[in-house]
Amino acid sequence: MNNETYKYIFGPVTSRRLGISLGIDLIPYKTCSLDCIYCECGRTSDSTIEIKEHIPFEGLKDELTTYLNSNIKLDAITFAGSGEPTLHNRIGDVIAFLKENYSEFKVVLLTNSTLFHHAYVRDRVIGADTIIASFDAASENVFKKLNRPHKDLTLFKMKEGLLKLREEYQNEMILEVFIVPGVNDSDDELKKIKIFADSLGPESIQVNSMDRPGTCDWVKSVSKERLKEIETFFGIDSMKFNHLKSTKNISCKDIISEILSTIRRRPCTKSDLKKMTGQNTGVEKALEKLISEDKIVLKKMPRGDFYYTKDRG
Ligand code: SF4
Repeated sequence: MNNETYKYIFGPVTSRRLGISLGIDLIPYKTCSLDCIYCECGRTSDSTIEIKEHIPFEGLKDELTTYLNSNIKLDAITFAGSGEPTLHNRIGDVIAFLKENYSEFKVVLLTNSTLFHHAYVRDRVIGADTIIASFDAASENVFKKLNRPHKDLTLFKMKEGLLKLREEYQNEMILEVFIVPGVNDSDDELKKIKIFADSLGPESIQVNSMDRPGTCDWVKSVSKERLKEIETFFGIDSMKFNHLKSTKNISCKDIISEILSTIRRRPCTKSDLKKMTGQNTGVEKALEKLISEDKIVLKKMPRGDFYYTKDRG
């Protein structure tokens, strides 16, 4: 993908849970209703709950049409990126456009769950095939410490909104809990999160922990043993993911553009980037070039060495 052509879509990225997924970024960097201490996009510079047309719907539609008509293999199209997608007032129109014209792709929404207390936000996302909704804290003080919400948001509103969404939304809902040791991993907090999750009744729960560079250096990952314990506590079975193979042929210039547009939103390892592009030597060369030009940074993490752009907050 050439990011001189595409401003609002990125990837596709390969992930364990979604396979090969094209990203749609509806929100400018770094606009969000939360400022999570683990955010892999960096600090929120525009903390807002203002819902508006953050990027032009027509421009996005043009990009999607050009890209999706080019016979690329995908498993899913995912609203993700550098901010909260439901802050865009036309997310419902984007979903309707995809369903009408590209119904072969699964439409997935990654959301921080903060805006579902608005009935109109719930209405807009009802057509998504899967909603992966974050819920990291069940106590107001932990919510504030971990997710650093906009001043007009409360955990109470978030819980109410999620419960209403569950009543109205008929498709798959996955609750995602991000664990930060020392912040939301006490037995008491986990018990409260589980009580809420049980009352919500999502199709499944996923537990995540830091495995790529985030916003705060002090945020550490959970040990594998503890993660397993927490998964067992939530009644989570190990999930199996099927991956499709990328069939793209892309030029060297495109690899650089594609790498930049992806790691600006999500730090990746070399192996992530090779899977994403289907290229080995091309990725090696592109990373060398970007490092020598001082455009990207390498950070060592327990899961591997992650690359991200220098202009990230
Ligand atoms: S992790 Fe998601 S919700 Fe949290 S600050 Fe980053 S973009 Fe916003």
